[in-house]
Amino acid sequence: MQKEIIGLSKKELSAALALMGEKPFRTKQIWQWLYVQGVTSFAEMTNLSKELREKLSAAFVISRPKIVTEQISADKTHKWLLEFADGQRVETVFIPEDEHGAVCVSTQVGCAVGCKFCHTGSQKITRNLTAGEIISQFMLVKDVYGEWPSSSQENRLVSNIVVMGMGEPLHNVDNVITALNIATDQDGLAVSKRRITLSTSGIVPNIPRIAQETGVKLAISLHAPSNEKRSQIMPINNRYPIEEILTACQEYQKIVTSRYITFEYLMLDHFNDDLQDAQMLIALMKKYKIGAKFNLIPFNPWPGCDFKPSSNNRVHTFSRELEKAGFAAPVRTARGQDILAACGQLKSKKLV
Ligand code: SF4
Repeated sequence: MQKEIIGLSKKELSAALALMGEKPFRTKQIWQWLYVQGVTSFAEMTNLSKELREKLSAAFVISRPKIVTEQISADKTHKWLLEFADGQRVETVFIPEDEHGAVCVSTQVGCAVGCKFCHTGSQKITRNLTAGEIISQFMLVKDVYGEWPSSSQENRLVSNIVVMGMGEPLHNVDNVITALNIATDQDGLAVSKRRITLSTSGIVPNIPRIAQETGVKLAISLHAPSNEKRSQIMPINNRYPIEEILTACQEYQKIVTSRYITFEYLMLDHFNDDLQDAQMLIALMKKYKIGAKFNLIPFNPWPGCDFKPSSNNRVHTFSRELEKAGFAAPVRTARGQDILAACGQLKSKKLV
């Protein structure tokens, strides 16, 4: 049976070509066809001999996930329900800004972490995505927006990757690392490490690997200033409490010295949005000496959830308190709310 070529690391591709009796320089040629030109057939690789193209077609396929449905929100946020070869489905979201845009990729079908505020978390984990399935979500968005050299499209918007879709990326860390290394490879997609953010609920043992093996930006879904409160909404906190997460963040910042860590903080009415909560956050960051910024996220309610969004007034008072202490704490605008594409709303069982 043919193997999927998208998602092989450069080393794996090289080894596969060596087994076919090909010279090492072929790796770069094929890599560029896949990740610079975005071709979807070996026939298009015109600087390879016909014989090699046939050998490649016999051994490999070049796939993209199938689009099952898509929705575009009033603010142009674009959401797709995608299906892979085995019929499993995930959602991918593109969030365009004026001069750039981020593709929010999923890393698992469902999620095992079970955060109480998260719609995805209510969908049981089915399986991890492969590296190819992760990176091909980004490539599919480039296809849709015509952002390969063969297209006449001049505006390049598909520039950033946020690993914040369905799933806990650090529960699928090997495939995520391979996918991110494909994304940043300078001979291919060449996405800058500064344009990639991985968000985790805090799977402590794997945090240093993100620094060592990828160097991309890190975001932690913190959402509460104390273990007592965090465990109520994120049961994973019983396994990896706040102190351990912040120690792992220190490790990350020893390696990736130039980057702030973003702490995602969902504003839940009268649960975690008091001034005292903000002061506890400030004390934590000072104690662990972490270069931190906060992303205050208005909560997007979904059918059947128990939490309510904080009022604008409470959100802005909270933000001002953090800023007074020297931390950036912007209030994120919720995007794609009308199509349930916003943070924590993704779910692939059916479009709701
Ligand atoms: S917030 Fe992230 S880690 Fe938590 S349940 Fe949702 S997808 Fe999983």
